[in-house]
Amino acid sequence: MQRIVLASRPEAHATLDNFRLETAPVPTPGEGEVLVRVHYMSLDPYMRGRMSDAKSYAAPVPVGGTMEAGGVGEVIASNHPGYKPGDFAFGMFGWATHGCLPGDQLRKVDPTLAPISTALGVLGMPGFTGWVGFNEFGRPKAGETLVVAAATGPVGSMVGQLAKLAGLRAVGIAGGAEKCKLATETFGFDACIDHRAFDSAADLRRAIASECPDGVDIYFENVGGKVLEAVLPLMNNFGRIPVCGMISWYEPKEGEGEGLTAPMLWRTILVKFLSVNGFIIFNHYDRFGEFLREVGPKVASGEIRYLEDVAEGLENAPAAFLSMLKGGNKGKQIVKLI
Ligand code: NDP
Repeated sequence: MQRIVLASRPEAHATLDNFRLETAPVPTPGEGEVLVRVHYMSLDPYMRGRMSDAKSYAAPVPVGGTMEAGGVGEVIASNHPGYKPGDFAFGMFGWATHGCLPGDQLRKVDPTLAPISTALGVLGMPGFTGWVGFNEFGRPKAGETLVVAAATGPVGSMVGQLAKLAGLRAVGIAGGAEKCKLATETFGFDACIDHRAFDSAADLRRAIASECPDGVDIYFENVGGKVLEAVLPLMNNFGRIPVCGMISWYEPKEGEGEGLTAPMLWRTILVKFLSVNGFIIFNHYDRFGEFLREVGPKVASGEIRYLEDVAEGLENAPAAFLSMLKGGNKGKQIVKLI
């Protein structure tokens, strides 16, 4: 089997040198374990955090350890009564062609519902994150206005489509004209603004304001930085900000966040009576069944659409990951391993 390990921690920006491809024997499943040949592996922004040893909500990947990732594939051997060869399963197999985990840590994937790769995106952790954040912390009401950035990614595209289904005005923010077109034409956003077209938060704010004539009720926070600075003053009283991610700050970037002072931020939260909820999706898996029952049929029928960006081969995972951090992906970034 092949795997990619963390060769070194990034000094500032992550680079290809931080990763190393290794070959290892295919593991033999022990008692209660299941061996899976991984077909698709997920690349997600949170992995940048695992490369660093800064204090966080999850432990870092040790130097020399296999990079963390969810994957979906076919069971090839099983010592667990719930799994037999030929079944499909999702698990945290890492950046690797094979994974061996206790059956209790796997989730069975139904290949007749949708292509198995969707277990990594629209019907997996990112789609579920959008659904929880929107419903539980966005507390949407028909007629309101929602803004979300990274609008064509798996989280943002789920949020935008749920907002439209719930009768809200959905304004996306994405990098580049092509992604903005995808946001409106494929995902049904009412409007989408290219954040790269504006150097200053003030100019970006004017563009967002013109698409949000009634102000912003829900700002689904995916990116932080310039976008947050642009949107915050546009919030309506009693607005909600589900704080999901802040990818513009995952890697140091000159100029990002300048002017967004903590006093300005906290004062806006106070004087506009905003609800700001940080959430990490692993605390919400008790609702995963409910999510699949609601969203699964909508994906199967095409009512909820999704986009995947497929890199080929484990050896290309590091480059695809670094590109995604800079917005190079169009849709959920996955890696096809077989
Ligand atoms: P995406 O597939 O959307 O990929 C990340 C996107 O972020 C890029 O394509 C790019 O889109 C955008 N981006 C990168 N840098 C910037 C920047 N400086 N300013 C604005 N946008 C930028 O990612 P996901 O949908 O998987 O994740 C979206 C967010 O949700 C991330 O912050 C992630 O960490 C977070 N998340 C949080 C979870 C939780 O439990 N709280 C769980 C899952 C995800 P573009 O080119 O359009 O700008």
